[in-house]
Amino acid sequence: MLKTVLQTQNKKLVGDPKGKAKWSPRPVAATIREVGPTCPTSCAHHPDRGKTCYALQMPLAFQARKATWSEGDGEVLRKFILSLPPGWALRHGVSGDLYGPDGRVDRGYVDAMLGAHRKRPDVVAWGYTHGLSGLQEAGYTSSDFAAGGLP
Ligand code: SF4
Repeated sequence: MLKTVLQTQNKKLVGDPKGKAKWSPRPVAATIREVGPTCPTSCAHHPDRGKTCYALQMPLAFQARKATWSEGDGEVLRKFILSLPPGWALRHGVSGDLYGPDGRVDRGYVDAMLGAHRKRPDVVAWGYTHGLSGLQEAGYTSSDFAAGGLP
């Protein structure tokens, strides 16, 4: 299942949102997904290709190893976003990505993310993907991902 982390200021954990000074005073939450099943197969660091994935090397690796992909991850994420206190920041996907074990975009997860952020525009969010082309092929656009306050 998706792992969630609350109230961390640990930049090793959530990364430093460069140049986003307006974010820094905010308390920060994070989500952690399973590496491999949630990753695009095209990623050069996919565990099937070796052990170069950063998420399995950093201090958070112990958390990433405990996360497991689940069909219910989208619902866990939706509830997590909606439950955040006003004004929090959220670092999506400290490990893992937006895909499912079938190699396709995990639409349930992505749609839950976007829907929850539309309801909570006060939650500033950011994240990364190694599967941008797959998201575009699935019909998502950059404006979809601006919903969470990404500038
Ligand atoms: S998508 Fe990210 S977390 Fe997944 S294998 Fe690639 S670098 Fe690691």
